[in-house]
Amino acid sequence: MADFGLSEEERMVQQLAHEFAVKEIRPQAAYFDEHEELPREIIAKASELGLAAGIFGGGSAGISSVIIAEELAWGCAGIALAIAASGLAAAAIIGIGTPEQQAKFLPMAISSDGQVRLGAMGLTEPEAGSDVQALSTTAVRDGDDYVLNGTKRFITNGGIADVHVIFATEDKSKGWGGLAAFVIEKGTPGLSEGTVWKKMGIRASHTADVILEDCRIPAENRLGPPVGGSGAAAVPGALGALKMLERTRPSIGAFALGIARAALEYATEYAKERRQFGKPLIAHEGIAFKLADMAMAYDSARLAGAPRRVDGGGGRAAAARGGLDGEVLRVGRGDAHHDRRRADLRRLRLHARVPGREVGTGRQDLPDLRGDERDPAPGDQPRAWRAVGPRRITRRPVGRRG
Ligand SMILES: Cc1cc2nc3c(=O)[nH]c(=O)nc-3n(C[C@H](O)[C@H](O)[C@H](O)COP(=O)(O)OP(=O)(O)OC[C@H]3O[C@@H](n4cnc5c(N)ncnc54)[C@H](O)[C@@H]3O)c2cc1C
Repeated sequence: MADFGLSEEERMVQQLAHEFAVKEIRPQAAYFDEHEELPREIIAKASELGLAAGIFGGGSAGISSVIIAEELAWGCAGIALAIAASGLAAAAIIGIGTPEQQAKFLPMAISSDGQVRLGAMGLTEPEAGSDVQALSTTAVRDGDDYVLNGTKRFITNGGIADVHVIFATEDKSKGWGGLAAFVIEKGTPGLSEGTVWKKMGIRASHTADVILEDCRIPAENRLGPPVGGSGAAAVPGALGALKMLERTRPSIGAFALGIARAALEYATEYAKERRQFGKPLIAHEGIAFKLADMAMAYDSARLAGAPRRVDGGGGRAAAARGGLDGEVLRVGRGDAHHDRRRADLRRLRLHARVPGREVGTGRQDLPDLRGDERDPAPGDQPRAWRAVGPRRITRRPVGRRG
């Protein structure tokens, strides 16, 4: 297997998360998907094992968070998101809140010891999706309180959470600089659930609009130091939002990786089992190429998110631990170069067991995807392989510097 540089402890985390996905998630995935129901018992079990807090950077974060995210999403992306989503609110509280606010609000947002607690983070609005700066939910200071008005869209755990962290603008003319984050505790008048969205996928996770109508909260629920107090400008809301996204986005990428791996496995198994025109589907070149393309896309994505696989160096680990997308991508690209160099020394192979195979370099590796561990005999080699042969892997790596 490609060495992703996991420590012994990280491998144990991976195994724990994988076993949880096999035993607790997969058997119930169809039920929760069909019924669009929040899997509270599974969330409780995951929290008992420490998996719930681990995904979006609770605790030690870093590599473990993406490992857990990939394995749980391999089980079922909806249940995985249901387990993880509270971490979005937690990440905002950690990123922006003072130590006192963290001590007060984090236990409300994160399940622990089998007790399910739900957090929700509201950034998106009907007119503010990718363009977060366009958000128009307002927070107006009124004596010792803030009063919030607006609509938040597509909020995971929206309306049902024990604690909502809502991003709003205090001064629209300041753009990013006018944003701040506010904690709204369950039962606060003025917060209600709007449309509950019926989704095509990840249906075990609750997604709803959150309506704020003259929602009044104490001023101390504004995350960060008090306005006008010392260090007030240390983490403005916009920077806090970015910190929250930086902390959580790598795990969202890892979810996609888990989904892709599961899809590839399902498709490969089916293509081996189903026979048409006298042979398994996978023996038809058009199908095999599709699967090889999927495998390549999966491997490329994995390399982009595999910051420590070459030398296990602390710097790379730190890059991942920082959870910075750009840094992870940069490091990933470096790793891809390394793989190409290794490819000069020996042919890389796609093995049938997807999670454990080496990194493939092209469709011509598909005989291995079919389960053939040997190098294909010349007559069996696909035309593309015969035309190019093993020399193809000695070509100059794409994007190599200098
Ligand atoms: C299941 C689910 C759960 C969610 N949970 C939460 C949550 O808990 N909290 C929360 O705040 N939000 C949540 N969201 C919202 C999510 O963050 C937004 O959907 C996302 O930010 C994109 O916004 P949008 O859907 O409005 O798409 P848009 O911003 O309208 O984008 C539509 C398309 O245009 C593309 N596009 C946009 N801008 C550009 C550009 N400048 N150049 C090129 N292409 C562009 C986008 O890539 C996309 O393909 C959730 C969404 C889903 C589906």
